[in-house]
Amino acid sequence: MSSQPTNGVGSDAVLSEILSTLKRMQVDHASLAANVESLSSRVETQSTLSALRSQPRGSVRDSPSLDPMELGKAASSPSTDSPFSSSKPPPSPTARRSSVTSRIILTTYPGQSGIDPIPLDWGNSDPAKRGPVIVSRLQHTIRRRNAIGAHGGSYSIYNALAVASNNLDLEHKPDFTNTEPAANIGPFPAWGSKSKIVAMDPYGHLAPWLYKDLMLGQNIDIRPTIAVTKAHMKIPELEQSVQAGRLKPDGKICINAQGELAVTKFAVEPVWYLPGVADRFGIDEASLRRALFEYTGGSFPELITRPDIKIFLPPIGGLTVYCFGDPAKMSDPNVKLALRVHDECNGSDVFGSDICTCRPYLIFGIEEAVKEAQNGGSGVVIYFRKEGRALGEVTKYLVYNARKRGLDKASEYFQRTENIAGVKDMRFQALMPDILHWLGITKIDRMLSMSNMKHDAIVQQGIPIHERVLSQMR
Ligand SMILES: [Zn+2]
Repeated sequence: MSSQPTNGVGSDAVLSEILSTLKRMQVDHASLAANVESLSSRVETQSTLSALRSQPRGSVRDSPSLDPMELGKAASSPSTDSPFSSSKPPPSPTARRSSVTSRIILTTYPGQSGIDPIPLDWGNSDPAKRGPVIVSRLQHTIRRRNAIGAHGGSYSIYNALAVASNNLDLEHKPDFTNTEPAANIGPFPAWGSKSKIVAMDPYGHLAPWLYKDLMLGQNIDIRPTIAVTKAHMKIPELEQSVQAGRLKPDGKICINAQGELAVTKFAVEPVWYLPGVADRFGIDEASLRRALFEYTGGSFPELITRPDIKIFLPPIGGLTVYCFGDPAKMSDPNVKLALRVHDECNGSDVFGSDICTCRPYLIFGIEEAVKEAQNGGSGVVIYFRKEGRALGEVTKYLVYNARKRGLDKASEYFQRTENIAGVKDMRFQALMPDILHWLGITKIDRMLSMSNMKHDAIVQQGIPIHERVLSQMR
């Protein structure tokens, strides 16, 4: 009890100390907000800057206000002593147009004045009723957004750098002429399911063409999240396969004696329907949103403030589908399908590092997929950007070191990974089968992987696997 203030004078002193601290914090907060605000005013056009400067001199310190408009005016006044303020024009005013307002919109709320999201009914089989995924924060689009995050997955950060460094004009409008998919796909029944596809936009390859009216008529920024192209690919090991007689050139799928392959490729960026993603993991949507908010450094406050928005474009890598043979055969139940689902291992896949056997497995998958296509079926390899069990290369190399300096056994790998990262594996295959549903795959005749996690995730999604093929390591 002796540590408590025992008389009225002591309590008053403590109280007034608290009050004055609070007051200081308010003022600090206001000037911090003003500084942040002034950062954005610097990148305004010259005319906007002049307009803002002509405002009456600010009085941030006298009357703290958190109204960003008021703060913006005050902060851009030349009289302010903010370290971020500058009366100099931006380095390249012509690269900047009025696509960003002077206000930093930290977050929005449902029903807020001017907030008018374009309706989006995930799982509706009519793309017009389903509606486009809109995530852009450009001037004409920001109030119509129905998704959180940004296009490009992890590359969204480079986009931000390009804007910050004046290398990208915000007014730039993509010209999608001749960029249409190089192969037709679907539509399949799963495209109209709320639960079968939750981690990609089934209309992502057609978005600019399906929603052209909105783009042109209302100046809404809509971008594709899937692209489809055709290419040739050449892998040294497949030339050896031809030489060894395992692979026979047919001029169509395996083009020549060098083992060159014809392939149709689908690049897919992640688009998450949050209720569906939560469902896959057996958790509630609120817990998922809270965790995504907290562990991205609070980057996406609308995960918390906009429960009405259900779509999130996460800053992570996507996937690529490599399809051998006619893409239409992937969904044909009358022909055989061979499939490998491969998770990225850059060191082995690209650089041939001998510390693991990922590349030989990948090559085996490609060779078997090509053979299946040559036999009149379909061969598919799906490559997921989930480096080092989705823990990344830094953690991976730490584990390698720990393994080499301890007992270098495969069984140790899991334990050492868990010791370092807290989990054995973060690839969580639960969302992986979405791409199979999207491709119209209803069964897998030959699964070119022995992973139980992948097998179980696919079977749980109602896609039977008839045979699991063990890679023949060569
Ligand atoms: Zn590997």
